[in-house]
Amino acid sequence: MNKFGLLASVSLLTGCVTASQLEQASVSEFAKMRETLTISTNDRDRAYVQCIADSIVAQLDEPYASYDWDVELFDEAEKNAFAMPGGQIGVFTGIFEVAQTQDQLAAVMGHEVAHVTLGHSLKRANSQTATNLGILVGSVASEVVRDNVGLILLGAQVGLLLPFSRSQESEADLAGLELMATAGFRPEASVDLWRNMAAANSSSTPSFLSTHPSSANRIESLGEQVAVVMPQYQRAQAAGLRPACSR
Ligand SMILES: [Zn+2]
Repeated sequence: MNKFGLLASVSLLTGCVTASQLEQASVSEFAKMRETLTISTNDRDRAYVQCIADSIVAQLDEPYASYDWDVELFDEAEKNAFAMPGGQIGVFTGIFEVAQTQDQLAAVMGHEVAHVTLGHSLKRANSQTATNLGILVGSVASEVVRDNVGLILLGAQVGLLLPFSRSQESEADLAGLELMATAGFRPEASVDLWRNMAAANSSSTPSFLSTHPSSANRIESLGEQVAVVMPQYQRAQAAGLRPACSR
């Protein structure tokens, strides 16, 4: 094999997932989830989740500000939520057990949207020397995937996907905190959320916690970052950004 042949096969092996491939995969994955999972018919809950999402995405910069954000509430026990690179936000009703206030749910959704705006899925997809790029592209879009009998599994449990890296998680924690504060949600609620997550960890349903270890360190560093984003929260309050989303 000459060196050009070698290069070609290396690039085939490592592959390269583009942003637009991921966005297309997100659209089709989200449509599949709507077909397979139970969609909540509780209009109050649906409006509540939409209200929080609207407040958060209103603070995004371009190109994300121009996305046609698509929000769905699934009536499923998983304590989880996700956002996909095409601008899809999915929330499972199980998360209400741990995200008990609008501010706590804004902390979850801000974190997930931050993974999108930080381009984490694309980096994750391209960090894998995937043997099956097709499967990867189809399922890497979100933090959750379904197995072949329709159970929702987290990527890490499937073994195909890696959860986001620790450094990506820290980045998303800070960017998510900034996002919620800028939207006028109380940033301290993120610390409460993680405490609730840790307390609910004994539950058998797969949760956000499976891909998001809730270490004491994480709670401590979030606590420190709350002080950093307080000026953003205060500016939002002064500007009249005071979301009032309720169930
Ligand atoms: Zn995360």
